[in-house]
Amino acid sequence: LGFEGDQAIHLFSVSKSNDAIGISQWVIVKHEGSDAGEGSWKCSSQNKEGPMCDHIVAAKKFMKGSSDAEGPRKETEGVDITFTKSFTYYPTSTKQFSWQSSRAVSYLPILPPRWCMLPFEVEFYPQPPPLIQLSDQASCPCLDGGRAFFNPHCPTIICECQVYTLTQAFSIQIQLQPCPRCPQEQCRYIGPEPRDIGLFNFNNSTLFTHELLKEYISAFSSSETPFEPWVHTITRRYEEMHPNIPFVGGGLFWSVWFAYVRLIQFEGDKSCPSCGDLPENIIWDGVSIAFGWKHVNDELEPPTVIQDNAPECSSQPLPHQEWLPDRKMRKKLHEWLADGGLKPNKGGESEDLALNMEACLEHTRILQLELYPWLHTLSPYLRDMFSHRLGHGALQSEKGWSPRKEYLVLFLILSAEESTMQTMTRSSLKNLETFLLSPTWENLQGLLGVPALYTVLELEHGREGNYASDTLGVANWMLKRGKEVMDSLLALNHEPLPGTLTQNIVTSTVQKNSSEIHSWEKTGCCYGLPQI
Ligand SMILES: [Zn+2]
Ligand SMILES: [Zn+2]
Ligand SMILES: [Zn+2]
Ligand SMILES: [Zn+2]
Repeated sequence: LGFEGDQAIHLFSVSKSNDAIGISQWVIVKHEGSDAGEGSWKCSSQNKEGPMCDHIVAAKKFMKGSSDAEGPRKETEGVDITFTKSFTYYPTSTKQFSWQSSRAVSYLPILPPRWCMLPFEVEFYPQPPPLIQLSDQASCPCLDGGRAFFNPHCPTIICECQVYTLTQAFSIQIQLQPCPRCPQEQCRYIGPEPRDIGLFNFNNSTLFTHELLKEYISAFSSSETPFEPWVHTITRRYEEMHPNIPFVGGGLFWSVWFAYVRLIQFEGDKSCPSCGDLPENIIWDGVSIAFGWKHVNDELEPPTVIQDNAPECSSQPLPHQEWLPDRKMRKKLHEWLADGGLKPNKGGESEDLALNMEACLEHTRILQLELYPWLHTLSPYLRDMFSHRLGHGALQSEKGWSPRKEYLVLFLILSAEESTMQTMTRSSLKNLETFLLSPTWENLQGLLGVPALYTVLELEHGREGNYASDTLGVANWMLKRGKEVMDSLLALNHEPLPGTLTQNIVTSTVQKNSSEIHSWEKTGCCYGLPQI
C-alpha cells in the first residue's frame, strides 16, 4: 500500500480453497518488508523461516495483485493488515509493535457501551459509580434559611437517586444523613456536595451533571432557546437511550437550572479585546425587565384574573354621556354634516337641478330653523362657532360650502352617538380649566389628550395668533359639560374604589433571613460591578 520504501508488516490468511471453513485449514503468512515484496516471509504452518511454501507463493502473488484463482491448489484470501510507518518497525525483533504505546493509567476492564450489551450480560462492576458519599461539605439547605452540615458521628442512610447527564439518566445510590436542624416531620436530609465530580445536587434525589447545565447556558446564549424547547430536545435525546429514564419536565429543570446558575461566579471576570482583562469602565447595554423579588409569590397571576375574594364594587352606568344631550337633534346635526352641509350630495351625480335645489333648500331650512336654535339653547358660543365655521360662514363664493376639516372633525365628534366624552379624564378637565384661565401656548399643550379641540385651537393660534372668542366659549362649554358628566358618574359610584392593597404580601422567612440570597436575586438583575 501507499508509499514507496515503506516498511510494513502484512499478514495474509491463506487457505487451499475458498470453501474452507475450519480454522485449521487456514494458515497465516506474515511478510515484513516493503510493499514491493522484498523482506522476509514466514508461514505459520512452518513456524520458521524456510523455503517458499505454496502459501507464501499465493500470498506474494496476491500482494502483487496477480492472484490467480485458477492456480493449482491455492486460493488466497488476503487480510491485509498494514502497519504504516508511524508504528515502530523492528526489523529483527520478534516484537511486532509497541504495547507500551497503548497502556494507560486506567487498567481495569471496562464494560462495553450499554447499547451494544446483551440483556443477560453481567455488569462486572456497577456503572456509573455506585454511591455518592457524604463528605465534610455535605449539607442540608434548611427550611429556616440556614444550613446543617454532615456529622460523621451520626447515622447515615443509603437512598436511590437519579443522575441526569447529557445523553441519559442513571439510577444510583446516594448517602444521606437526617438533618438535625429541620423539623423532623419534614424528613429533610443532609446530602453530598458532588461539585468535584462534576455533579449538581438539587435535592438529593435529582442530580445533574455540570455539562448538561452548561449545555443550556450555551444553547440560550448562542441562540435564543427557551426552557421548554430545550427540555424537549434533551427528552428526545434520552428517548434514544435504553434503558430509558425519561428526562425531567420543564418546570423541574427550570428550578434546577436557576438553583445552579445562581452559584456560578460570574462576577469580576470582564474582558475586552482592546483593553484586556478587568477593564476599568464597562458600559452595559441590554434590556432587563425586573420584577421585585418581594412581589414574587405563589399567588402571582395575570392581572386579568378575578380573585374569589375580590371586592364587588357595584357600578351604575350613567346614561347620556354624549356631548349633546338631545338624541334626535344630535342625529340630525351629524347627518347634516355627513351629507355635505350646505352643499348636500344627496343627488349624487344627478344633473337634476331641481332635485339638487330642493336638497339645498331643505338643508338650509334645517340649519336655520332647527340646528341654530337648538345649539343656541346649549350655548350661544356653540351656535356662533357652528355658524362661523360650518354654517353660513363656511360658504365660499367659488367652492360653495367648504368648511375646514379641523372644525368638521370637532363637530362630528361632539355629535357622535357614542361616549366621545371618554377623553375628558380628570386630568384633561383640569388642564382645560388651566388653559381657559390663562390661554397660553404652554397651557395649550395640556390639551393633547383632547385631540379634536387641541387641533382647532392650535390651528387658530397658528393662523391668527390668538383664539377665536367663540372657540374659547365652546371650550368653556366643553369643560362645564365634561364636569357635569364626571360629577354624575362619581355620584353614582364610590370614589375612590375600595382598594385591595391592604392584603399582605407573603414573604417567606427564608427569603428574608438567608444570607445565601444574593442582592441581585432580589431584583433579578445581576451586574458584575457596583452601581455608579
Ligand atoms: Zn505454508
Ligand atoms: Zn511503574
Ligand atoms: Zn435541614
Ligand atoms: Zn475596551
